[in-house]
Order: sequence, then C-alpha cells, then structure tokens
Amino acid sequence: MLHFICTTCGAQYAQSDEPPRQCLICEEERQYVPPRGQTWTTFAALRNSHTNTFRQYDDGIIGIGSTPAFGIGQRALFLRTAGGNILWDCIATLDAATVTLIEGLGGIDAIAISHPHFYTAMVEWAHAFDARVYLHAADRQWIMRNDPAIALWDGETKPLWDGVTLIRCGGHFAGGTVLHWAGGAGGRGVVCSGDILTVATDRKWLTFMRSYPNFIPLSARTVERIGLALKPFAFATIYGHYFDRVIAGDAKAVLEKSVARYVAAVEGTRGYE
Ligand SMILES: [Zn+2]
Ligand SMILES: [Zn+2]
Repeated sequence: MLHFICTTCGAQYAQSDEPPRQCLICEEERQYVPPRGQTWTTFAALRNSHTNTFRQYDDGIIGIGSTPAFGIGQRALFLRTAGGNILWDCIATLDAATVTLIEGLGGIDAIAISHPHFYTAMVEWAHAFDARVYLHAADRQWIMRNDPAIALWDGETKPLWDGVTLIRCGGHFAGGTVLHWAGGAGGRGVVCSGDILTVATDRKWLTFMRSYPNFIPLSARTVERIGLALKPFAFATIYGHYFDRVIAGDAKAVLEKSVARYVAAVEGTRGYE
C-alpha cells in the first residue's frame, strides 16, 4: 500500500495498492490533466529524484521550493515569528537536508495552507515535524489524504498566536486563505498570499482568478470582498506563490489599486470598456 502523489498538482492521496484512476483536483475546472495523461509518483521516489532549494528573503522568512520544479511549481515559506515557526503553503518534496536544516532552526510549530492546490504532501511535513496543519473547513472536500494532524477552522479569521492571523479571502477557492504576520517586514507587516492574491508577472500588481491555467475570472463582488477581508490589517510586503513574486514596500496600496483595476476590467468601466 502506498500514498500516491499526482505529478501535476503534487497532491498526496490516501493509501492504495494501485494509483488512483484520476486526480480529483486536476480533473476539476481550476486545474488540468496534461496531454501525456495522468501520472503518479510517491513521496519516497521524490526523495531520490528531487532536493529542495532555499531563498532567504527578509529576516525570519525563507522560501523553500522543489528542484527540479515539481507539480504547480510553488515555493513554500518558512516563517520564524516571535510566537513560533510556521510553514506557509506546502510542497511535495521533503528531503533529509531540509528536515535537518529546519530542525536546526527550531522545527515547525504550525503549518497553514492557502488552498487545495498546495496541500501536496502536507501530512508528510506534519509527521516529520510533529506539527498541526490548519486548513479552512470550506475546502475540506479537497483533502485527499486525511490525518489527525489536520485541524479545520471555520469563519473569517483564525489567530495562530499573537500577531499571526489566518484570513479567509475566498475567491480562487471558497476557503482561500492568506496569512498575516504583524511582526514581519520589520514590524510593518507581511501577507503571505499563495495565489489567493496572485502577484502578477510585473510584480507591480495583484490579480485574482478562479482558475489560472484555464483563465476563469472572478466576479467584481468576489474581488471586492477579498479587498475588504484585508482592510483591517496593516502590511508592507506581499509574498506570492513563486520565488520571484514579491511586492515590497507599499503592498497594501497595491492591493487597493489592484482590486479597483480588476473590478473595472470585469465591469468594463474606467478605460476597460
Ligand atoms: Zn492532481
Ligand atoms: Zn491554485
């Protein structure tokens, strides 16, 4: 019996003798199955074929990505906050060096994930570091490998501890979550957004989509709600889901103007007629 991993989205499945016939996440309209068809691997095989790469951003924030790229290609973030260490979002690869390095930095106290496309091997990470995984209950149907380490939360916000808050924005997924760290960016505040708020390729704007690979937009009302969910929070930097997707300095103003541009574009007003 093995826990198979989808090679397209990186989701690890409950134990089975044979690989699942389909990946439910990739068959759904927000993802895709590549032309070669569905293929599977395992966590153990990935340990031999992949290593992880690290990138230190500001003090206390380190990106962790798979090398070579795997699945959707996102990098996770390791946050060293005053109240504890957090793994934000997740990847399917966890090599021995990564375990040694993170243990040397005090381990992981909590794992939180923006949405199901990044659930990947969350249970393996949770077991390796004896950590809980905080997921929004609205996306529970997309948990492909359940485990007692998973803690579902409900409602609009969930404080992990002082100064660290999970915020439900919705949009891309009903439970789409971002993390706010008040002490990040030298006390000016950080938002880790996954692709619930996507840092655009120019790193000057954010965008919001139901499906990125299949180009399905969100409604004006939904995007306005995302802006409102973040209104009470102060932040200077937004970390998106790829290594190079960071908006630093005036990220809150960028969010506000990006919501306004998106709404104008989908409603056909203010130059987008
Ligand atoms: Zn998949
Ligand atoms: Zn996604």
